[in-house]
Amino acid sequence: MTMILTQNIKEFCANKKARIKEDIERDFVEVKKPTLAVIQVGNNEASTRYIRNKKKDCEEVGISFEWYYYEETISENELITEIKDLLPYIDGMIVQMPLPKHIDVDAIKLAIAPEKDVDGFHPMSWFNPCTPAGIIDYVVNGCGYDFTGKNVTIFGRSDIVGKPLAQMLTNRDATVTLCHSKSKDKWQFIETADFIVTAVGKPAFLNCYAIHVPVVDVGINFDENGKLVGDCINAENRDVTPVPGGVGLLTRVALLENTLLAAQFRRTGFKERKENGR
Ligand code: NAP
Repeated sequence: MTMILTQNIKEFCANKKARIKEDIERDFVEVKKPTLAVIQVGNNEASTRYIRNKKKDCEEVGISFEWYYYEETISENELITEIKDLLPYIDGMIVQMPLPKHIDVDAIKLAIAPEKDVDGFHPMSWFNPCTPAGIIDYVVNGCGYDFTGKNVTIFGRSDIVGKPLAQMLTNRDATVTLCHSKSKDKWQFIETADFIVTAVGKPAFLNCYAIHVPVVDVGINFDENGKLVGDCINAENRDVTPVPGGVGLLTRVALLENTLLAAQFRRTGFKERKENGR
């Protein structure tokens, strides 16, 4: 079996961060540093942990990080007003999910200006969503894999991973099969695949023992012992990205890249909208 995903993800991300830091030090000497605002509503423990990681990443590369916290009782209209008031002062904004049930997620996504929507969730966003962008960057630029003409099977069709990834890989001339909970007999889609991505969120969803093609494991799950695991089992001696230390790191770096790009747009008067794959 030829291994494709051989580039160490931690090393790949460390190199990318070093380059982002260099770009910021070079391009933002006399202009305001790139700024990322994160909106948190309520005190979900996992959300707080994710935001802390983002803060640490930003501090490492020289992005100013602004953390805005709102009580769970804030209304949808009040939150939209807060977002719109903040937008002129920052380069990138993300709203940490989940939001309380009384707030319509789509309304919040639409409130963020497309040129500042570094999560890539607005339908007109200038940015690719971070998880698919991070995966493609790693596989193509880190591992040198060419998706042209390849059969790619994706398990999971969410708006933040499966669907945008399918679109981005189609744009790269792959033939994509997007599977979901109603798809029958997953093995028929595995047998014909040159490359597999699983983003389902179920431990042991994919038994890799009989799989001999590269697999990107997006899943974040906890097993019965509380251990963090992906969607794959029997991944030893197989070409599978690790969990932890895999796609999560790629997603975090993609957010830094999107934020830097957003700041570059501002620095150049929004004239230089670079082609970033979308
Ligand atoms: P999601 O909204 O949790 O939805 C799960 C998807 O899996 C749905 O499309 C569902 O199909 C599909 N599915 C469920 N059972 C299936 C089956 N038996 N066969 C094929 N597909 C099946 O998706 P998500 O937000 O993309 O999250 C997926 C996982 O990735 C979670 O564990 C999440 O924590 C993780 N994640 C990780 C990162 C990272 O940075 N590492 C980023 C994002 C997400 P239906 O549409 O039919 O319901």
